[in-house]
Amino acid sequence: MNHKSAESSLILVVDDETFIRMQLRMCLEREGYRVVEAENGRQALSIYSQTHPDIVLLDALMPDVDGFECCEQLQTIPEGRYTPVLMITGLEDQVSVDHAFEVGAADYVTKPIHWAVLRQRVRRLIQQAQLQKELEIANRELQRLVAIDGLTQVANRRRFDEYLEQEWRRMAREQQPLSLLVCDLDYFKPYNDTYGHQAGDRCLQQVAQAIGNTVRRPADLVARYGGEEFAVILPNTDAVGAVQVAEAVCGAVRALRIPHRTSRSDCHVTLSVGIASMTPVPHSSPSHLLANADVALYQAKASGRDRFVLHVSDPKTPEAPSPIFPAIS
Ligand code: GH3
Ligand code: MG
Ligand code: MG
Repeated sequence: MNHKSAESSLILVVDDETFIRMQLRMCLEREGYRVVEAENGRQALSIYSQTHPDIVLLDALMPDVDGFECCEQLQTIPEGRYTPVLMITGLEDQVSVDHAFEVGAADYVTKPIHWAVLRQRVRRLIQQAQLQKELEIANRELQRLVAIDGLTQVANRRRFDEYLEQEWRRMAREQQPLSLLVCDLDYFKPYNDTYGHQAGDRCLQQVAQAIGNTVRRPADLVARYGGEEFAVILPNTDAVGAVQVAEAVCGAVRALRIPHRTSRSDCHVTLSVGIASMTPVPHSSPSHLLANADVALYQAKASGRDRFVLHVSDPKTPEAPSPIFPAIS
């Protein structure tokens, strides 16, 4: 990890007394820190936003905006999430100390300043803040990695399952339709056999990207569902909307014009898509939706591939065969 050296850290010193600011500046600069000063709370807030210091040394008692109020306001600045505030004050009573921590101070030292103590506190607080920041960044990256398919960079199966459950419950609460596309590459085994596995991998990457570019709503999710299968979750989307997306997905893959001389549907890579759409009944599971999309996919394959099929359940005969929407070239 790339630790920012303590020497380059910027310290904002806030105190209404010029002499104290001067003293602190001298001592801190001797340690190799850079120092900016503010003489009241209001000025501190504006300098803070301009300079993004690594730590704030804040006097509690100042006219106008005092240290407590200033500290509280600093906590609301999003970029300041990792910037610790060290209160330095003559107030030693329990109420003042409690108050300082309540408004978000990371630590508290009293005047007269014991320089030997202060310099260690400053060093430790900067170091801790830096570590916390790195940890949160690493954590976010980890969160991303466990949800992403390494080859295609779309969501993986684990994320797909989790998100489908989540959106299914949400659509049940909102009584809104949820649609699902299951997309399977046509004749992909022959593609691998003809062009090799590496070319197959590159093809999967291109197809994933094409599908990803097709869906636009923030709540839509494209996932790698299996080897050469992708799924698209479309919340708040009815069958008509899902058909439009499926058409666009098939079109986007066709538009890649990836040569496939052993394909029996076209001399380019194509997809078959099964579509299912449902408004979830509360306390149900999305397994029917998945099963319906699978049935529709099977029909798309059986009826010639390179097309999408919408699963429609007839209210009288719930699992009646669905109409076929041929692909539009
Ligand atoms: P269909 O048109 O009926 O879908 O035929 P298909 O050949 O696409 O279907 P099948 O299920 O028989 O073959 C899927 C192929 O996808 C077989 C497998 O080698 C390939 N595949 C699955 N995952 C990957 C992968 O990560 N990389 C590559 N290159 N190929 C993969
Ligand atoms: Mg398959
Ligand atoms: Mg296939």
